[in-house]
Amino acid sequence: MNLLVLGPQGAGKGTQAKRIAADYDLPHISTGDRFRAEIASGTEFGQRVQGILAAGELVPDELTIGKLREWIHAEGQDGFVLDGFPRNLAQAEALDTMLRELGKELDAILFFDLPDDVATQRMLKRAQEENRADDTPDVIARRLEIYHAETEPIVEHYRATGKLVPLHADRSIEEVYTEIQQALQRFEDAA
Ligand code: ADP
Repeated sequence: MNLLVLGPQGAGKGTQAKRIAADYDLPHISTGDRFRAEIASGTEFGQRVQGILAAGELVPDELTIGKLREWIHAEGQDGFVLDGFPRNLAQAEALDTMLRELGKELDAILFFDLPDDVATQRMLKRAQEENRADDTPDVIARRLEIYHAETEPIVEHYRATGKLVPLHADRSIEEVYTEIQQALQRFEDAA
């Protein structure tokens, strides 16, 4: 299964993506987690993007798309859960091209919808637990601003595929996960 999770910061995408990956035995390809790992281990790439992440800005497309291509080729041949990519239309088109070249397509796009005030509250709470450099009030506001301006429009790109699964993310982890399992079952039954 080739899956994509999409939605604002704080919507619980990462939590659900990890759980799907474990239950369906798929690699979890999270651009944010992987960028933070590169920063933590001090790679040249990590040094290059550290300030960008701390400011809540997007890493330039050519860098991000290059990394994603590597990861999909190395790990995604038998399915994946992609998390944090694409974040704008150029990345969405690059992903379409990449998958087409590999003879693959997305099976479902899980869209986590959440009001900004709830997203902000959740991120501020997480800030106390995880100590992420980008979970300060200013940077949270900037990340949500970029989300609405650049990422939200690609929802329409995916709605057009008929494979978008809209989820109300303002519920418990269990409730959302049950709905995801039901949706994935419907896709499997239809296949
Ligand atoms: P969040 O969704 O809470 O912002 P992520 O862990 O998904 O957290 O991403 C953290 C940061 O990593 C982003 O603010 C951005 O700087 C960078 N990043 C992640 N994915 C991408 C991407 N697809 N394109 C550009 N930058 C990205």
